[in-house]
Amino acid sequence: MSKTFPPGSATLGVLGGGQLGRMFVHAAQQLGYATVVLDPDAASPAGQVAHRHLQADYLDAAALDELVQLCDAVTTEFENVPAPALARLASDLPVAPGAEAVAICQDRSREKAHFLAQGVPCAPHALIETEAQLQAVDTELLPGILKTARLGYDGKGQIAVRTREELQAAWDALQRVPCLLEKRLELAFEVSVIVARNGQGELVHFPLQQNLHRGGILAVSTVPAPDLTAELQARAIAAAETVAAAMEYVGVLCVEFFVLRDGSLVANEMAPRPHNSGHYTIDACDISQFELQVRAMAGLPLVAPRLHSPTIMLNLLGDLWFAGDVERTPPWEAVLALPGTHLHLYGKQSARPGRKMGHLNITGASASQVREVALRCAELLGLPGF
Ligand code: ADP
Ligand code: MG
Repeated sequence: MSKTFPPGSATLGVLGGGQLGRMFVHAAQQLGYATVVLDPDAASPAGQVAHRHLQADYLDAAALDELVQLCDAVTTEFENVPAPALARLASDLPVAPGAEAVAICQDRSREKAHFLAQGVPCAPHALIETEAQLQAVDTELLPGILKTARLGYDGKGQIAVRTREELQAAWDALQRVPCLLEKRLELAFEVSVIVARNGQGELVHFPLQQNLHRGGILAVSTVPAPDLTAELQARAIAAAETVAAAMEYVGVLCVEFFVLRDGSLVANEMAPRPHNSGHYTIDACDISQFELQVRAMAGLPLVAPRLHSPTIMLNLLGDLWFAGDVERTPPWEAVLALPGTHLHLYGKQSARPGRKMGHLNITGASASQVREVALRCAELLGLPGF
């Protein structure tokens, strides 16, 4: 049974106060919901814009009680929320996505098992939790990438390995926590797809975005995905929808895929929340991934999003706030003087290299015009071309 919370008359809570929480709050407020953010950071991007910011740890019992008192439903903005926090909230409130779906997405091993159970191909891999498993690894998986089973993001917790010796050293370097060794695949390019599902089982999707990473962090997303065939696009959407439905997922889910040089499609990982690669939806679609997150948790109707403009998103990392060692403000006026530029900054008080400070969406009449403006923006900001 799923409950409905009509716009304008309910309070929605979010665990986590980062930029994803901030954009969730914006979308919830647009529909007239009050919002509460739980995050330990006094200056969190979402805490700054919510009606209430509970500044406490995610496992703080009093704060969780207060969240239950204040809210009608709760969501999360990051996948590493402690399971006991979700379980505590779920005993009194609708929590979307649910603890079980989040638990699958938190663990690369369970995630891959879930893909395979739904007939969705993923990279050949082996779980390494013991020395014996390490010794028994099939050399077919080399060269490979050793990834911590939990808590990895933006390329952190990953080491490329070519030989058994390197594998041994890498597992030591990762402190022998449970890991997955994945075969290194020959990638042609990377795409991701965002789907949303509500408690009534309605499922909708966005078009796929093609993603370019630099240093393990998303740098550029392009929509429509320039290199993707209609057939592969349809297959990725069907796979993501099957994966979501099989978890009885409620909320927004992103599934990352590799397209290999031989043309095959392989699932990489999934995120139980809106995704960095979906930030373009705010300006280029008639409904954003954040509004779908709100609608899904509130039990409102989901309608198929429509892309009304080709678009490119540039991620804005803290590096842009430095010229050498000197701090600077990036040349926003010059960027905003170009047609179709939409600047989003997250209100983070200090810039650090690699820190996600904002993103820039570029929309326009044609893919070629969008690309031209995006390349000009990159040049103005000192970003590499693409
Ligand atoms: P994260 O949680 O840091 O996003 P991912 O598993 O998505 O971790 O890996 C980050 C990036 O590393 C991917 O986007 C891709 O570019 C590359 N990568 C990861 N796994 C493989 C693989 N098996 N073969 C080739 N490249 C990979
Ligand atoms: Mg990834």
